[in-house]
Amino acid sequence: MPELPEVEVVRAGLERFVVGATITSVDVLHPRPVRRDPTGPTGFTAALAGRRIEAVRRRGKYFWLALDEGDAVLGHLGMSGQMLVQPPAAPDERHLRVRFRLAGATEGRELRFVDQRMFGGLLVSPGGATLPTEIAHIARDPLDPRFDEDAFQLRVRRSASAIKRLLLDQTLVSGVGNIYADEALWLAGLHGERPGERLSRGEALGVLHRAREVMQHALAQGGTSFDALYVNVNGESGYFDRSLHAYGREGEPCDRCATPIRRVSFTNRSSYFCPVCQRAPRRRTTTAPRHSSN
Ligand SMILES: [Zn+2]
Repeated sequence: MPELPEVEVVRAGLERFVVGATITSVDVLHPRPVRRDPTGPTGFTAALAGRRIEAVRRRGKYFWLALDEGDAVLGHLGMSGQMLVQPPAAPDERHLRVRFRLAGATEGRELRFVDQRMFGGLLVSPGGATLPTEIAHIARDPLDPRFDEDAFQLRVRRSASAIKRLLLDQTLVSGVGNIYADEALWLAGLHGERPGERLSRGEALGVLHRAREVMQHALAQGGTSFDALYVNVNGESGYFDRSLHAYGREGEPCDRCATPIRRVSFTNRSSYFCPVCQRAPRRRTTTAPRHSSN
């Protein structure tokens, strides 16, 4: 699944190729990716012909094309979505779902939304150029210079929820997926089950700063090989080649203390952590069986 740095790379790539271009026509080749547009494929297509793309913006894992007259095309890549800028002569991708023919794009490219599993999608957001109302409830992400760190740590420390759950709460901080949460917690030396209300201000801010560092590192890697990534990142693997300390390393030695990394189930996914560097919180009772009751 594309995580925030990948989506930022996509945003930057779109910015480079399509800002200033005009959408001449749109082909919706499968209705599912525009299922959240209340006007359907016909309305989606009709709303966009002749519109100029003025900016490409992002919040968390959502991105949008800001159009003239203040509207926007809001997009999410879901599990397997790609936004490709292709030469019009390039053969159609097998899972091509929506094609935007453009006039005035860099290198004469056109824009293609490709999505095998179709959890992602696109919709027209009337008046959404600055911030689509559909995502106004989503918090800023750690890479956003206007992210309010103090509000974040206050909300974390007023909550009885586990810190990992809080990191994944998109109304508190957006764009931190399962991988980044585990990596940030490992770097911060915090166990994901620690309740927010038992963290110090420094611990709450520390894990946020570590999440930002992991994202910036991934972004820096993406920036160095942008062209290949733009074709591939959005592609099958979905992940940057990144050095992970915790995520996916069950049984491998911790990079700090050599204790084998442990994996536990977390919702329908997994959490990875070092049982020594990231001490589990003490239970309120010593006799209660250990289980995740949430
Ligand atoms: Zn360790």
